Amino acid sequence: MVFSIRKDETFNEKLQHNLTERFKRNRRSMNEAVHVSDITSGCIRKAWFRRKYPDDDTIDINTALHFLRGIAYQYALTLLLELDSTEIPVESKDNELVGHIDAIIVEAGKECVVEMKSTNTIAHFDINHTTFKEYLRQALYYLVLSGLEKAYIIIKYEQQEQRFYKTDKHGSKHYIRERSQRPARLETWEIVLSKDSIERQKIEAEMMEAKVLFLESLQSDNVAKLPRLTGPARYIKCRSCPYYDKCFNKSEQDQSAIEYASKVGILDQLTLDLSAD
Ligand code: SF4
Repeated sequence: MVFSIRKDETFNEKLQHNLTERFKRNRRSMNEAVHVSDITSGCIRKAWFRRKYPDDDTIDINTALHFLRGIAYQYALTLLLELDSTEIPVESKDNELVGHIDAIIVEAGKECVVEMKSTNTIAHFDINHTTFKEYLRQALYYLVLSGLEKAYIIIKYEQQEQRFYKTDKHGSKHYIRERSQRPARLETWEIVLSKDSIERQKIEAEMMEAKVLFLESLQSDNVAKLPRLTGPARYIKCRSCPYYDKCFNKSEQDQSAIEYASKVGILDQLTLDLSAD
């Protein structure tokens, strides 16, 4: 008779290994079409570096767990909401921009885009938050590419809101959970973009401009055409970016990239208008 109990790392290691392999398989090369996520996920320049230097973008256990939660959430929500189809491929008329819509739901005979997001942020987003705008931009681009008029963004906040309090003398960070702060929850946004709206034309123009820019930088093998992040996004995202050294110390940024980054996009105009209402 044997009785033993011990910690075992087998499944952790297998999870990390298999997720890493999956990430590698899904990576796009320099020759592949532009994906919607290249031009909507935080930093267009990082998307270029990911294609050029895929091995620099390693996957730690936190990324692996976040990815796992995302897959599980999407799978469960698809079943529970009885969504009609998932991972629907879409592409632009010139075939140079591709993407995958998370799911489609049919309402009153009309198909609607569904995008599912999960986040473990401790500061829930308002409409002008950078990450919320990334979600919104992606949903709008999918509406344009699919020719549909309505989308839902379902955001799963995994944690109650918290407020940073202080870093103590040992370097530990302290946070406060106030009673008034929002709990962990699902939040759904409905977006309508009619086919004849001027906003749709502007969003399509913005999307195609970003596509052309990214494609040119891939074809010319030159990241200098793409802008670095600026402002708070630079402070938050660049310091943990695996390409920081290549981006800031070993590559240039053209004046045209700086000018591109300084333009007020249609989405910024729209969200500013909405929040002013
Ligand atoms: S360092 Fe910042 S600007 Fe450069 S690629 Fe990374 S996230 Fe983008």
